Amino acid sequence: MKCPSCGEPESKVIDSRSLGDEIRRRRECIKCRFRFTTYERLQNRSLYIIKKDGRREEFDRDKLFSGIRKACEKRPMPTGTIEKLVENIEVDLYSLGKTEIPSSHIGKSVVSRLAEIDHIAYIRFASVYYEFSDISALKQAVDTLIDSKSGAPLSGQLPLINAAEIARQKRRSKQR
Ligand SMILES: [Zn+2]
Repeated sequence: MKCPSCGEPESKVIDSRSLGDEIRRRRECIKCRFRFTTYERLQNRSLYIIKKDGRREEFDRDKLFSGIRKACEKRPMPTGTIEKLVENIEVDLYSLGKTEIPSSHIGKSVVSRLAEIDHIAYIRFASVYYEFSDISALKQAVDTLIDSKSGAPLSGQLPLINAAEIARQKRRSKQR
C-alpha cells in the first residue's frame, strides 16, 4: 500500500486492531512518516472443482443452483428448497477444508440429497450426472427407488451408483 502522501510503497505498522471480521492497521510511511490507516478483510477462500477431464474450474454456486433448478422444474417443492439445498452443499464443500474437490464429490452430494427430497428431480439429475448410457441403466435406477420406497433401507439406493458406475465402465472399455 503506497503512502497517500509521497507514494512510498513501504510502511510500518504501528498499531493493529481486530474489528470482528476485519483488521484495522495504523501505518507510518518509512520515508515521510505520514500516518494512514488500512483495513484488512478476510476474503472467501476460493474453491476449485476438478472436472472429469482433469481441468480445474472455480466453484460456481450459480451453476450448481441452475443445474439443480433444472432438475426440479415443475416439481412440487416448498419455496426455498433449492436455495437451502445449495447452501447445505456449499457448507459441506467448504467444511472439507480443501482447495480442490473432484466434481464427482459434488455430484454425489447433490444426487443423495435430491433422493431424499424428490424422486423425479433425483432421476433427472442422476440421468445427467451419471450419463445413463441406455434405458436399462435408467430402469435400474427407477427400480432401485421403487425398492427403497417399499421399505428397503436407504442403503438400498446404493446399487444405483454401482449400476451407473458399471455402465460407465462399460462405455469406457468400449472406447478403448
Ligand atoms: Zn510517505
